[in-house]
Amino acid sequence: MGSRHYVGVLGPHGTYRALYRQWGNHPVIEIPLLRADWQDHDRDMAGLLAVYDLTVDGRADSPEIYHGHLDEPTDDMEGLYLIDLDHAGIGFYVPDRARNWRLYSRHLLDGSDDLFTLDGSTIRCTTCAAVDEVRFSTAHTATGSGLDAVVTCTHCGCAETTTPAFTRHRTTGPGKR
Ligand SMILES: [Zn+2]
Repeated sequence: MGSRHYVGVLGPHGTYRALYRQWGNHPVIEIPLLRADWQDHDRDMAGLLAVYDLTVDGRADSPEIYHGHLDEPTDDMEGLYLIDLDHAGIGFYVPDRARNWRLYSRHLLDGSDDLFTLDGSTIRCTTCAAVDEVRFSTAHTATGSGLDAVVTCTHCGCAETTTPAFTRHRTTGPGKR
């Protein structure tokens, strides 16, 4: 099952350029694919962009490239993956009821140190080994500038927070098993 998505690159001040994909999926499925593409290109961001036809001097002026802004509502898109070149990360956005883009999750391209591991179909808590028992949420940053993305294990309560700069913080749960 898939839905109407964009895969793009984050630009300055919330701008982005992106290409339409008809069969986008949840990050649990898509992030491992993006990571594999990045690994296959020697962890080179330019190589990753080439895979998705997003190279700046390639098809940037192609009519297929959509130029948008995260503050603009979307009419009929259901997901937006934005590659963050500065932090080697990916932000995933979904529309809210007013069709405005809302941060859903953030993921480093290097997932080797993830608290929650993605295998392409499930998400697993490395603390308690629970599978697909997570909650994705957002919270205002400590600095008040933007939103943090938070993944929480609903089984053991541990959580991983990713800031807009892709710095990560972890908290352990109350020990509920
Ligand atoms: Zn857990």
